[in-house]
Amino acid sequence: FYRPTDKQQIKQGRQDHFGQNLTLTYDDPVMLVRGWKHHMFDEWGRPYLDAYNNVPHVGHAHPRIQAVAADQLKRMNSNTRYLHPAQTAFADKILSKLPDHLEVCFFVNSGTEANELALRLARAHTGAKGMVTPDHGYHGNTTGVIDISAYKFNAPGGIGQSDWVELVEVADDYRGSFKRDDPDRAQKFADLIDPAIASLQQKGRGLAGFIAETFPSVGGQIIPPQGYLAAVYEKIRAAGGVCIADEVQTGLGRLGDYYFGFERQGAVPDIVVLGKPIGNGHPLGALVTTRAIAESFAKGPEFFSTFGGSTLSCRIGKEVLDIVDDEGLQENARRMGERLKQGLEQMETEFACVGDVRGMGLFLGVELINPDGSEGTAICKYIKNRMRDHRILIGNEGPKDNILKIRPPLTIEAEDVKMILRSLRSVLQEVQV
Ligand code: PMP
Repeated sequence: FYRPTDKQQIKQGRQDHFGQNLTLTYDDPVMLVRGWKHHMFDEWGRPYLDAYNNVPHVGHAHPRIQAVAADQLKRMNSNTRYLHPAQTAFADKILSKLPDHLEVCFFVNSGTEANELALRLARAHTGAKGMVTPDHGYHGNTTGVIDISAYKFNAPGGIGQSDWVELVEVADDYRGSFKRDDPDRAQKFADLIDPAIASLQQKGRGLAGFIAETFPSVGGQIIPPQGYLAAVYEKIRAAGGVCIADEVQTGLGRLGDYYFGFERQGAVPDIVVLGKPIGNGHPLGALVTTRAIAESFAKGPEFFSTFGGSTLSCRIGKEVLDIVDDEGLQENARRMGERLKQGLEQMETEFACVGDVRGMGLFLGVELINPDGSEGTAICKYIKNRMRDHRILIGNEGPKDNILKIRPPLTIEAEDVKMILRSLRSVLQEVQV
């Protein structure tokens, strides 16, 4: 249904008929038409190593996902108003990975929708609207969650900050106010919550809760200092708010040692939001919360999503989580992540433009800097585009777009890690010259 020579025409078609703020990656965009595990193939069949996409969590075109999708589509696909064993099987599988007090599941179609629902739950439970959230966060693309996504509302042309939202500085101990040489930095970052809560109360907004990506991703692959989130949650709860963990980027074993990011932080959320990888490409989002919060929400109108929790979605979601277990992908993320990080840390000692290497498992960031220590935005863009010439897909991220984001499917193998490191070294040598 396409010819390799169609690429320019397709690009032109997008320019003619798509919104211009729907951006394409790379100066010379790639057209990708097939995938297999952590590999993608362009219109000429050329392979690319996918070191960027977290949605194909268990790999592109996984045969088990193909099989359950085909099987279910042959039978029927319906909604949550009818009973089907796939619904409870999926819920049970998610709950088996979470602390016992998180016991009620809601199924929707995206991370955005799950975050929208999280806001509704927090408001229903507290009777308040105010939210505290770290700067540079991202929680989705709808009117409601754009308001809690500083990455978008504060961007040029953005809608600006709403009066029911208070931002706190991201707990970035590389660039932020409190650095790694300060043993009290976690508490100092957490203390920034106090004036934010006070401000909401002063404005008469009250406190519905706190929402954060457990490890801020669009903020620059940040790993907050140990104990930060637990300290924040304590303050939020003391003020009557609900703690929401957006685990869209960090959940489901990507971190290697931990199935969810909040485990690493020793923090226990009231609401966990899941998205992107949980459907491996099929649109799927989920929210898990406590019985008390779910009961507050149940006092309101019926909750229904036509496609959320469809038979097909539940079967695919359950299969994704089963594959992570059956193929030992969390352990693979741990081992491959460790190798990758070691190699990157070696480069940090060799190349002046590598300012920081951070992350866990297959959630990694490399901060590029200029000789004066400022954010190396141009260097980062150059590296990303040159890695594409080496046919390796990675991203750039952060408020100044100077952090290389490495976040492959969890299937990546030792040879691929070697390839990433070898190519990155060669591109860094070009920058060093
Ligand atoms: N939360 C986080 C942390 C995300 O990274 C994203 C998407 N990048 C979302 C929510 C929104 O997910 P979606 O685009 O699937 O609605």
